[in-house]
Amino acid sequence: MALIVHKYGGTSMGSTERIRNVAKRVAKWARAGHQMVVVPSAMSGETNRLLGLAKELAPAKFTEAYGRELDALAATGEQASSALLAIALQAEGMQAVSYAGWQVTIKTNSAYTKARIESIDDERVRADLDAGKIVVVTGFQGMDEGGNVTTLGRGGSDTSAVAIAAALKAHECLIYTDVDGVYTTDPRVVPEARRLQTVSFEEMLEMASMGSKVLQIRSVEFAGKYKVPLRVLSSFTDWDMDIGVEAKSGTLISFEEDENMEQAIVSGIAFNRDEAKISVLGVPDTPGIAYQILGAVADANIEVDVIIQNISKDGKTDFSFTLHRNDYAKALDLLKAKVLPSLGAQEVIGDAKICKVSIVGIGMRSHVGIASKMFRVLSEEGINIQMISTSEIKTSVVIAEKYMELAVRSLHKAFDLDQPIA
Ligand code: ASP
Ligand code: MG
Repeated sequence: MALIVHKYGGTSMGSTERIRNVAKRVAKWARAGHQMVVVPSAMSGETNRLLGLAKELAPAKFTEAYGRELDALAATGEQASSALLAIALQAEGMQAVSYAGWQVTIKTNSAYTKARIESIDDERVRADLDAGKIVVVTGFQGMDEGGNVTTLGRGGSDTSAVAIAAALKAHECLIYTDVDGVYTTDPRVVPEARRLQTVSFEEMLEMASMGSKVLQIRSVEFAGKYKVPLRVLSSFTDWDMDIGVEAKSGTLISFEEDENMEQAIVSGIAFNRDEAKISVLGVPDTPGIAYQILGAVADANIEVDVIIQNISKDGKTDFSFTLHRNDYAKALDLLKAKVLPSLGAQEVIGDAKICKVSIVGIGMRSHVGIASKMFRVLSEEGINIQMISTSEIKTSVVIAEKYMELAVRSLHKAFDLDQPIA
């Protein structure tokens, strides 16, 4: 007998028919002798629908001004789906109870629409489990110190599930979703992409931060911090499939010390289309320029990613960074209006048609020459590299967006990711 947490995404909860299937699957696990905690998302489309209603009433400065009520509103989506799941479980003859975040309690800070979980009181849930009940806990939400309902950011139910699994020291947290695992790259770009049986949590973190939308990045951070074994698997298999087969399906996000890790040097190719690049040219090369440029950008709540400063010539240098495409116009205006005059720089230019492509793999730690192979592959395809950034387990390049698919396909092939691990 083990304590298991299941998380079901919006698509898996998308209709009463699907909720019934979820209930049957969970009941199967409970009947096999496991203590079950289930964390559902809102039914698909529901969070958008609710936030859309609010937008009709108050379009301007949306999130900042109405955060508290937006969270009270959006949290109802998960409250409804949780109650429906508990009803479906009871209709299957199981004992089940649902709780909203504030009833558990899941305590968060007060950053409405993007709150962070601070602690979880596991007493109530444990008592129910010990009494033989299946416990359904809403994803995506909690309560702050003042008793206000908060939500954790879009996709936040993943993080709820992992945090609950951590608090309960669950044996495993299974994230049921509409894909059957984590792939070497996006199969829509490379049809030969393979599902990984295991991926290290550090690799997953890199892939999640690069826009692989399989898991909310914060959930991966949580899993790493609290060593929660995490599995991503499909909810579209038959609910009555063999439980032993099901328990080993999908992709296990595991820790490096596990011996059964696949031994590839590069595990995946990640990419991100939503990038833009800004360069400040002819900046006087004096102490404090990085701070003056990036400080102003950070004060406007804009996150930057890859940063490059060239060597200086005649006391002047060029400074470039990448950022999310949504922030591009804002950052460009800001730098032109505020920073350029005070800095004495010559020009601010930008390019919103770039993308970032990365090779990711923990094997890169112990193997040299991997990055140069990446550069060779790109040069053979005639793709110009504009910026490079590296970490221990990742090399990223910034290239023109139009070459993205070509780059991803060539790298996927060059690193043998379409081949099964020997
Ligand atoms: N329902 C929320 C959203 O759509 C949370 C989640 O599904 O994880 O973002
Ligand atoms: Mg999700």
